[in-house]
Amino acid sequence: MKTTLLAASFALVLGSPRAAAAKPLRVVATTPELADIVRRVGGANVSVDGLARGPEDIHQVVMKPSFVTKLNKADAVVYLGLTLEHSFLTGLLDVARNPRLRQDNVRQCAGEGCIDCSEGVKVLEKPASVSRAEGEIHPQGNPHYNLDPDEGPTVARNVAAGLSRVDPAGAADYDKNLKAFLAELEPKLAEWRKRAAALKGVKAVSYHQDTPYLARFTGLQFVATVEPKPGVPPTPTHLERVVALMKAQGVKLIVREQHFDAKTTAWLAEQTGAKVAVIGVMGNALPKTGTYLEFEERNLANLLEAVRP
Ligand SMILES: [Zn+2]
Repeated sequence: MKTTLLAASFALVLGSPRAAAAKPLRVVATTPELADIVRRVGGANVSVDGLARGPEDIHQVVMKPSFVTKLNKADAVVYLGLTLEHSFLTGLLDVARNPRLRQDNVRQCAGEGCIDCSEGVKVLEKPASVSRAEGEIHPQGNPHYNLDPDEGPTVARNVAAGLSRVDPAGAADYDKNLKAFLAELEPKLAEWRKRAAALKGVKAVSYHQDTPYLARFTGLQFVATVEPKPGVPPTPTHLERVVALMKAQGVKLIVREQHFDAKTTAWLAEQTGAKVAVIGVMGNALPKTGTYLEFEERNLANLLEAVRP
């Protein structure tokens, strides 16, 4: 009886080669929509922990001791990169002391467990010179590429490649899961492109300079930001200038990233007759947008709703 049970349990284990090889890979993802992609691509081989919850400003995520514990134990960390997570990831990796996620002088994360999703992304706004006078600095270019759904496949491929590097035994699984995710994403992309046609050429202002990739996907034309410079709060003089510009150019759309002040954009709307569309710059910034598909869908739907005649 004992031997039969033992044999049966061996058979169970052997039926799933990856499960026999190791415990689930511990993966930390910086944002909710990235965590979702890691779950989709990693499947049963990974357990995923997120850092930012979603509603906060990605540039000002408050570091918690629990983040350090997660990163200390992690086999891999998945991040958007281009210094988007600069406010928290660099400092956390510093104290997490995880050799798999070590940093070097150049890179935020340089160990074998570092999975940078910006590799191969078509980066916009690479600065010719880096100066503090221009406000918040992103020396590698604008990091908000998660607002362009066309970069979704690149991100998912980076996740699959990174997980396969960290866990070669699971490579076939990651490849299979990647294909299943892309098979779901690609028809969505085609649908979103079609719907986004209604936004083409529509002039808009945003609160923060995080919309060039959104503009690339939708064809929206952003003519100003509520912030005078990235990370610098608006002054009354600057706001008057924005109102004048919006009136002169007939701007009818204000894009407010969910974490920014609703009063200021409501005032702008009142002054100009423009409508406000609220978007999230990461998953779960808006309710029920924890998955990558929900995140991209909601942003597009909110923009379309605001320009509907
Ligand atoms: Zn930014």
